[in-house]
Amino acid sequence: MDPSPLFYQAGPALPEVSHAQGVYLWDENGRQYLDGCSGAISCNLGHGRDDIREAMLAQLDRVAFTYRTQFENAPAVALAKTLVGITQHQLEKVFFVSSGSEAVESALKLARQYFVVRGEPQCRRFVSLRPSYHGSTLGALGVTGYQPLEAPFRDIAIGSLKVAGPDFYRHDDADDNRHVARVLANTRAAIEAAGPDTIAAFVLEPVGGASTGARMLDRSYLTDIRALCDEFGCLLILDEVLTGIGRTGAWFAYQHYGVTPDLLSTAKGLGAGYYPVGAVLSRADIVETVMASGGFQHGHTYAGNPLACATGLAVVEAIERDKVLDNVVARGRQLAAGLEALKARFPWIGDVRGLGLLWGVELVADAATKAPFPAEQNRFARITALAREEGLLIYPRRTLDGMAGDHFLITPPLTIDAADTAELLTRLERAMQRFDRELA
Ligand code: PLP
Repeated sequence: MDPSPLFYQAGPALPEVSHAQGVYLWDENGRQYLDGCSGAISCNLGHGRDDIREAMLAQLDRVAFTYRTQFENAPAVALAKTLVGITQHQLEKVFFVSSGSEAVESALKLARQYFVVRGEPQCRRFVSLRPSYHGSTLGALGVTGYQPLEAPFRDIAIGSLKVAGPDFYRHDDADDNRHVARVLANTRAAIEAAGPDTIAAFVLEPVGGASTGARMLDRSYLTDIRALCDEFGCLLILDEVLTGIGRTGAWFAYQHYGVTPDLLSTAKGLGAGYYPVGAVLSRADIVETVMASGGFQHGHTYAGNPLACATGLAVVEAIERDKVLDNVVARGRQLAAGLEALKARFPWIGDVRGLGLLWGVELVADAATKAPFPAEQNRFARITALAREEGLLIYPRRTLDGMAGDHFLITPPLTIDAADTAELLTRLERAMQRFDRELA
């Protein structure tokens, strides 16, 4: 067989996908896989849906592409209104893009242009968490805190002031409240040292994604970060690329905490794997300020095209019609209980954390000390390979800033039913039994 010209990742050649339906995929050899991570936490409604297909075909028959400066298009307006409605009009303006990186990049640029227009050009820096993941383009990568991804590009990315967020698993403070208080005090000190008047925005994921293994923030932390942003006059950007559109059991994760951002980026689940579409949602006055100066100096060719927006609209309508958020809550409880039971059985499961259908499982060499496995053992890759052999796809990463530690995400489609959730747990248990035997 000719070698493939594709060079996405190092490692063994992958089998070709044949077809997919619901939460299952099949490869060219007839092997079946349960999609325990929705691809890259993106194929959120499962595969092969007739309702999305029909909406896309109907739009294709009318018009697939128009350029946003030449025509308004009905699906874009309808999807924007729907998203604004989801925020209960707290974020009233929408700018469409085609990926999560573009959504973050656009939010950073909107924040920056806002301050330039206001006559505050010194507001040019961003604050973000380490570890974090915000995307692969140079702006989004600049605010990302994950060493292997940053290293080759550190000198040319925009960079940001990186601060630690709360870590409710590994901290050694007296209790969680004192931990949050200490993290906030350190954050305040770092911003004060850097110069609060140079900061345009604080960017963070309301629940961590792949880089942290679903590390949770909490209400008091987010409330205080909101207050800190208001005190220092900088914007709060929430990156809901992964958590948005239902992943955590609310439309947006910020709605669990009662803390509203000034800007919000979302993508992945909006197109649900059927077509790339993402968005930046903004407070109205920010956009009005920027538009009064002659417009947002930014844009991408495919932004807000009719096919993308018709897909996004069909996805959001399906979530509403089928009461998918209720399913996320119910299946999330089932999954959490199953993962906790596995944790009680296997001593190398250090932590299970998450919300809705976004769960992280952290592996450790020693549960008492929380010491990670030696990095060169690549345990995160091994458990993923074993799960795959058992017919289950999971999403692995290194935990400690990308340098060591092991975790994986379990993030099945939001439409998974009780029987398939049980099957997911059974396949995971089989993989874990084999992993356990290898460690013995
Ligand atoms: N932000 C977060 C929180 C993400 O999880 C991701 C992707 O994993 C991105 C941004 C980048 O999205 P994309 O890969 O669509 O560019």
